[in-house]
Amino acid sequence: MCFAIPGKVKRIDDKIVIVDYYGEEKKAYNDIDNVVVGDYVYAQGGYVINRVPSEEAEEILAVWRETFFELQEVDLRLSRLDGGGANVDSKTRRILDRALESKPVHKEDLLHLMDLTDPSAVELLFKTANFLRQKYLKNSCCIHGILEISSYCREACAYCGLSAHHQALPRYRMTPDEIVNTAVEAIQDYQFRALVLQSGEDPGYSIAELAEVIRKIRSRAPAFILVSFGEVGIDGLSELFRAGARGLLMRFETSNPRLYAKLHPGSDLDSRILHIRKAYEMGYLIISGGLIGLPGQTHEDLVNDLFLAKELKTEMYSFGPFLPHAGTPLAASRPVDQIEVLKVLALARLIDPEQARVLVTTAYETLDPNARRKGLLAGASSVMLNVTPLAYRSRYDLYPDRMYQNTSLETQINETITLLSGLGRAPMDLGLR
Ligand code: SAH
Repeated sequence: MCFAIPGKVKRIDDKIVIVDYYGEEKKAYNDIDNVVVGDYVYAQGGYVINRVPSEEAEEILAVWRETFFELQEVDLRLSRLDGGGANVDSKTRRILDRALESKPVHKEDLLHLMDLTDPSAVELLFKTANFLRQKYLKNSCCIHGILEISSYCREACAYCGLSAHHQALPRYRMTPDEIVNTAVEAIQDYQFRALVLQSGEDPGYSIAELAEVIRKIRSRAPAFILVSFGEVGIDGLSELFRAGARGLLMRFETSNPRLYAKLHPGSDLDSRILHIRKAYEMGYLIISGGLIGLPGQTHEDLVNDLFLAKELKTEMYSFGPFLPHAGTPLAASRPVDQIEVLKVLALARLIDPEQARVLVTTAYETLDPNARRKGLLAGASSVMLNVTPLAYRSRYDLYPDRMYQNTSLETQINETITLLSGLGRAPMDLGLR
């Protein structure tokens, strides 16, 4: 089992390294010292993260070589457009044909697709998105780990089970040593190459402490570290970057300022967006997106969300259903239809076909046990596995009955690998911009 394959350095152009993967060249930004042509390296999220001894790399590449091409064949077969869709209305076909020709899709087009109700038209949308995913990203699937380090939160987001509204929740906060050890175990023992550290907005850690945690993880085990601690301030972001964080997971939740204000008392959409913009300027890879099915949210809002994600240079689109939580003011809301979620994932692929990593979120997996398969066949290309120690997981209570709450990491990995190989996806992130 492996979550990345090493590539061979072909050329070095100042800070940019050209890496070869079985004959395919990708670019990565060099984040480590002393890399020379001929070295084997792991790259993630557009950054070279470490060198791999030649012998070890060649062994891994030999194991992967055959499987790699076999999987590509399976994926190619499953993502073929088989000429279906003859009964689909002409407007939908025109929009999807344009998307297939890599012409830009406009807001009205996306709105039309979001409003589709005819099952064969919806099916054609998903197939088109899957075709585009295969065309541009081939069969590589990113598997990131997420470690939820604390469930304390000072915010009062109306939908969130970690919010201050949910007073009955028993909270936990991992100690810095515990975080470092769990992260290092995920990287060394379970082969994760990209790891998100997430928490509520917890004043219990200082930025200096979080920075030290990141420094220690990176000194003990090479990985692409993403942070998701909420609004830590622009200086905070820059301190975390200096410590070695290279990705930011921060959803803007909704691009509708009125809806945002209603759901986040005392917080400001502009401030959240500023964090994302500044982080990108600093060199962070951005994972962003929003919630689907918020009370009062329209299809137009969702389409605007997708355009905002693109404008913010989002590398991985993270859009998931809002699931009502009994301990919050939105307890009585109706959960969204899962087709809406799949449509948003497919549209993310359509507006950013060549670059986007599109995530199947755990919230969607909670809504539908077949979400992963459905999402990956409708334009998505990424999943996240929960590496939080089992003892804490149920207390990271974002929404009820979270999928994999009691599933060991081993089982999650095995299930994921089985699913991915059935779909012809390679569990690796060549991850290069
Ligand atoms: N403090 C961090 C992490 C927030 S929790 C931050 O501010 O970014 C991670 C994500 O969980 C949120 O961004 C939100 O989109 C999602 N979430 C929270 N409550 C949810 C619910 N009831 N249903 C679905 N997703 C939810």
